[in-house]
Amino acid sequence: MSKYILSLDQGTTSSRAILYDQEATPVYIENQEFKQYFPENGWVEHDPEEIWNSQLEVAKKAISFLRNGVENVEAIGITNQRETTVVWNKKTGKAIYNAIVWQDRRTADYCETLKREGKQDLIYKKTGLIIDAYFSASKIAWILDNVDGAREMAERGELTFGTIDTWLCYKLSKGKLHITDPSNASRTMLFNIHDLKWDEELLSIFNIPASMLPSIVDSSGLLGKVDKDIFGKEIVISGIAGDQQAALFGQLCIKKGMIKCTYGTGCFIMLNTGETPVESKSNLLTTIAWKRGDEVHYALEGSVFIGGAVIQWLRDGLEFFQEAADSESLAEAADDNGGVYFVPALTGLGAPHWDPFARGSIFGITRGTSKAHFTRAALESICFQVNDILKAKRVDFPSSINEMRVDGGASANNLLLQFQADISELKIIRSSFMESTALGAAFLAGLGCGMWMEEELIGKWTSDGELNSSMEGERRQKLVSMWDKAVQRSINWEN
Ligand code: ADP
Repeated sequence: MSKYILSLDQGTTSSRAILYDQEATPVYIENQEFKQYFPENGWVEHDPEEIWNSQLEVAKKAISFLRNGVENVEAIGITNQRETTVVWNKKTGKAIYNAIVWQDRRTADYCETLKREGKQDLIYKKTGLIIDAYFSASKIAWILDNVDGAREMAERGELTFGTIDTWLCYKLSKGKLHITDPSNASRTMLFNIHDLKWDEELLSIFNIPASMLPSIVDSSGLLGKVDKDIFGKEIVISGIAGDQQAALFGQLCIKKGMIKCTYGTGCFIMLNTGETPVESKSNLLTTIAWKRGDEVHYALEGSVFIGGAVIQWLRDGLEFFQEAADSESLAEAADDNGGVYFVPALTGLGAPHWDPFARGSIFGITRGTSKAHFTRAALESICFQVNDILKAKRVDFPSSINEMRVDGGASANNLLLQFQADISELKIIRSSFMESTALGAAFLAGLGCGMWMEEELIGKWTSDGELNSSMEGERRQKLVSMWDKAVQRSINWEN
């Protein structure tokens, strides 16, 4: 009988279920969006029950696609939006507040206070993270301090915390599992990435009782079981990883020095630094990629806030074209950017600049500037931002970085990828699989349940083409220095 891995990809706007056959070919994809709640300016919430119900529904649809239904499912892999925080009552299994989403800024002031108190060094040394509202710790603290009776309940050991992987495992096991993997734990700001334990000193800084925290399991292996009432048969959960780490695994960047970039709404660049965590001199994050048995892999991570979103803005905001893909032919109508540089700091700048006060700016406009130049500058801006992170990684990580695997919606754009190859002097390899995240969870699960061996995986990943750098050094330097100048002029605009 054919065997399949069911990959559950719980994202920020939708829940997906993808079935992979024994060749790791996706044979069925089901997707369901769920509601985003914005109760106040800068706040972003999800209803944990809506997350669960949408995930359950797509999983059931996927299973019913199989001839023998659940009998065909060998194992489940889970990947998820990271940092998003759920606190629930251990007895009733009900969340006491909505899930606070990674994008939520309500704890920004609290984080500033921690910085002023000089906690950054200690927190960075232990967690590899920069103090920010992004991570789970300040979100848990907010729930305990703002939901009626929460603090007392937590102190009595009646509340429990989880990121979305933990929440899904809890629901899938009908309350028996309270687990997370190190890739997710490393995004909470409560986990010591060196000794792989929840850290008492961090728990005391954020005033969070240790009794709330899930147990740590590997990212791959026999991690737990889905209760038989959920799908009609017990299924093993054998892979768990946060979305970007799963994408790194799905790109098979499993060796030290391998790097991937996902070009979606934002861009996420992850470098596998092998079994030692690398400290960044340029404000990149150090994080756990995955843990498999005794082997822990670390990664250096940098994110661009506005990546493909800049093309979305040209499409919807300025109505330059109908489809994002049309940006390529429009940009091709110009030989070059015509001296136009666009810094898309629409929501500030991420790594390595980290400036919340920067704003979008366009430089070099003349009477000759056309829509084509503008569009080209927008596409180039995605690459320049990714290049800034690559430059930082090249400083932090001594081995040479000569190629990068790419995926995500905007990686369909050849002009963009060619410019990236040129500007960053890299070979760009586009994966044939657009869903690297779900594939990564499937790979981890397939390895974890013994359906695949690591050597076999190599043959299951295929490239959809390569682009090589063909730009002269002098031109590259000129472009990058003009970009640097444009960034400097955008920085601190709002302050
Ligand atoms: P996410 O998973 O973050 O929602 P996707 O991976 O689906 O994003 O990619 C969608 C993003 O990529 C959008 O912001 C869109 O504007 C951009 N995009 C999609 N296709 C292209 C293209 N051919 N050229 C440039 N940008 C594109």
